[in-house]
Amino acid sequence: MNCRLCGSTNLASVVDLGATPPCELFLSAEQVDEPEMTYPLHLRLCTDCLLAQLPPLITPEETFTEYAYFSSYSDSWVRHAKNFVDAQVERIDPRFVVEVAANDGYLLQHVVERGIRCLGIEPSVNVGAAARDKGVPTLTAFLSPETGAEVRAEYGPADLVVANNVYAHIPDVVGFTKGLRALVADGGWVSIEVQHLLTLIELNQYDTIYHEHFQYYTVASAQKALASGGLSLVDVELIPTHGGSLRVHARPADSAGEPSANVAGSAGEPSANVKAVLDAEAVHRIKRDLLTFLLEARDAGRTVVGYGAPGKGNTLLNHCGIRSDLLAYTVDRSPYKQGLFLPGTHIPIHEPDRIAADRPDYVLVLPWNLRTEIAEQLAYVRDWGGRLVFPIPSLEVV
Ligand SMILES: [Zn+2]
Repeated sequence: MNCRLCGSTNLASVVDLGATPPCELFLSAEQVDEPEMTYPLHLRLCTDCLLAQLPPLITPEETFTEYAYFSSYSDSWVRHAKNFVDAQVERIDPRFVVEVAANDGYLLQHVVERGIRCLGIEPSVNVGAAARDKGVPTLTAFLSPETGAEVRAEYGPADLVVANNVYAHIPDVVGFTKGLRALVADGGWVSIEVQHLLTLIELNQYDTIYHEHFQYYTVASAQKALASGGLSLVDVELIPTHGGSLRVHARPADSAGEPSANVAGSAGEPSANVKAVLDAEAVHRIKRDLLTFLLEARDAGRTVVGYGAPGKGNTLLNHCGIRSDLLAYTVDRSPYKQGLFLPGTHIPIHEPDRIAADRPDYVLVLPWNLRTEIAEQLAYVRDWGGRLVFPIPSLEVV
């Protein structure tokens, strides 16, 4: 195996989570009775360039052509996008904004509202259609150097290219970065949000490791990845989304100038110690604590149901071997997922109203990164003495 960024063969094991199905492949009732393909989920770190990576066992085409994730089902996410747009308009006053993996228009709708020209590039046919319904111009495509050049030729160069929560999802990181460079004006800006590997490790967020996330970045490895496509890292912010993310500001190498003090400061981030920092024991503790809780609840005759059906929930439930005997069902606000079953564990997904109807003793919250929002949405669980359970960074019943 070679590092996909630098070609090195020095790949060290970080954590091996066994074999699981792709976490976004929700199953219909018919598919539950059919064979299901699983793939090894073994994260490795290149000790030369520090890119943590999974082998590309599934293709983005398999995952994202018909995608089940609509960003607009999260209120806090839409708010986050609006704040982002406000800040970027203030900062660089763009005339043309392109967003890659624009999802259902959750972000560009705020650009449209301001009367600024924009274009979404979104590979999922069904999700892109939802963006067009909102009045957001959206092209159905995967970004490559070729599609980037085609968009530039037809629409002109972009003053701002946004690529939030996609930089982990592309196995061809070099080709994708060249695509970003093709889209952006020579004096323009590229803004990327991507999960931070160091937070993942420090806060035991190992459930965010799944096949659709091909790589996990530190500031240092993000800088190398950007350089592979002709972009230079200019500034970096640490932001709280997804439990801890990097917001990276990059420019074409010729116009970038010197990086900010934030970038220079992060040179001291302990990325060289990533492997040493990852405490595999912490991963096993999360598994044991959650299983102990569910087994004891079961023995005591308590009912436990889930909330949410995010990709990370599937890593957690599959790694822990949890099935519907311990977690009767989960619920999700996305109608797309309701009536389907979680991959691997075959736990059914219902509408959120089901919780109020059944009044379970405990609700296990799988998208722990939206903790504040979900705790508010589920405040009514207290009406019958129910409690919320958060599995990560360590088991908490509140
Ligand atoms: Zn490497």
